[in-house]
Amino acid sequence: MKIGVLALQGAFIEHIGALTGLGCECAELRQAADLEGIDALVLPGGESTVQGKLLRQLGMLEPIKAMIKDGLPVLATCAGLILLAGKIEGGETPHLATLPVTVARNAFGRQLASFHIRGKLGEWTDVPMTFIRAPYITKAEPAVEVLATVRNHIVAVKYKNQLALAFHPELDEDIRLHRWLMQLAESRKA
Ligand code: GLN
Repeated sequence: MKIGVLALQGAFIEHIGALTGLGCECAELRQAADLEGIDALVLPGGESTVQGKLLRQLGMLEPIKAMIKDGLPVLATCAGLILLAGKIEGGETPHLATLPVTVARNAFGRQLASFHIRGKLGEWTDVPMTFIRAPYITKAEPAVEVLATVRNHIVAVKYKNQLALAFHPELDEDIRLHRWLMQLAESRKA
């Protein structure tokens, strides 16, 4: 099982730590050629504007978009969720646009710039959620499954093989979401 972790900018090291702990081989993705042979993809947190710009400059945006449309399992966190979103509030140009949701960037406001809670996600309880200048989803198409809400805002969704989160599971000890990504990749391979 080889999982590609976008390594252009942001918090990718922590995802690699979580995945190698689960026995995955990880590939750090820095150019289009690195996408070869990956079974799943992680889009880490960071700065979505910078990541989107680099993806375009490096010719990685279109290949990644095609792979996701073809069913490649993805775990996207924070800035990664913004990269996936079909629409960004404020009229910013979307990036991969494979996930039919609208996101608002830095949406929890100044006072709540960063916070940590534990909450429900789908069937799971007590899931740690660390938010750092986090976006939230303001609108999701009916086909999108809402997995978690915080303060009445959507913060985790699943759509086909895309898992998208406004928070950072890689910064906490809970490995259930990374394991879920691996399971999606295993079922796709089988
Ligand atoms: N605020 C960042 C953005 O808009 C996302 C923050 C994060 O990934 N922790 O891209």
